[in-house]
Amino acid sequence: MNYRHGFHAGNHADVLKHLVLVALLDALKRKDSPFFVVDTHAGRGRYDLGGLQASRTGEAKAGIRRLWTHAATLPGPPPALARYLAAVAAAQAEAPNSYPGSPLLVSQALREQDRFAACELLPEEAAALKALLAPDPRSHVHARDGYAALKALLPPRDGATKLGRALVLIDPPYEAQDEEYPLITNAVADALQRFPQAIFAIWYPIKQRPSLHPFFRKVATLPAKSALAIELLVRPDDSPLRMNGSGMLLLNPPWQIEKEIEPALKPLAHAMGEAGASWRLTWLKQDKA
Ligand code: SAM
Repeated sequence: MNYRHGFHAGNHADVLKHLVLVALLDALKRKDSPFFVVDTHAGRGRYDLGGLQASRTGEAKAGIRRLWTHAATLPGPPPALARYLAAVAAAQAEAPNSYPGSPLLVSQALREQDRFAACELLPEEAAALKALLAPDPRSHVHARDGYAALKALLPPRDGATKLGRALVLIDPPYEAQDEEYPLITNAVADALQRFPQAIFAIWYPIKQRPSLHPFFRKVATLPAKSALAIELLVRPDDSPLRMNGSGMLLLNPPWQIEKEIEPALKPLAHAMGEAGASWRLTWLKQDKA
């Protein structure tokens, strides 16, 4: 495994993923009942934007840094964008010039009654995450394969108490892209059997659009009530050589989440996009109930 998220932290894909994640957490917090979050591929939780890895690729410079500059010119940013930027700023208050990973954003959002399991396979990343989340008794780090851990973690429990709601973030490195899709769909199919009402947020990279079609067709057959793809393209999706954009595929998304997220996508495309940048929301499957 060669992937190190430090090279990519704060890029356009992280921005989209984390903006959607923060909106999902906000939606879950509209009810008092406790929820459980699983992050199957958690990373180390915090990344140094001034460090060697970030400096070498410059991805954060073309991502979150451009968004900060653009957002400062907006008279009133859309609420979902404002909430995401506030969450990043809250993390930076603890560690200036850093960028928060998904587990830190989740940990920051939890209420006393909520619980969080973060899985990370690489020992040094898992150790860093354990140290970061050590002060948070609601969060637990599992240094193991996230797909296998899902089997043990759903249906969610807090000791002997069952929890009625769950959000599962699946954010793999896609080192061998075509091999990752069946791992995801098998894990989600199994998890849906054990906890049908779970919300899933699956991040995916976009190079050439047709290569996504078999994955989407398979996802549409899963027994989730609804499936919504939220995508940000920083350039047209016609080159196989680069990541031209990315998406968050939501299964069983909270009611009307698209109405919150859509207004935030235009400023993301404007800030971080090149010629031909765009965004789109597509229902692969919609609950008619
Ligand atoms: N979710 C993180 C965030 O948003 O901040 C970024 C995660 S990064 C894209 C993917 C991470 O998954 C890497 O840290 C990698 O070491 C880890 N990883 C790779 N295969 C894994 C597996 N099978 N189970 C758990 N973690 C894995």
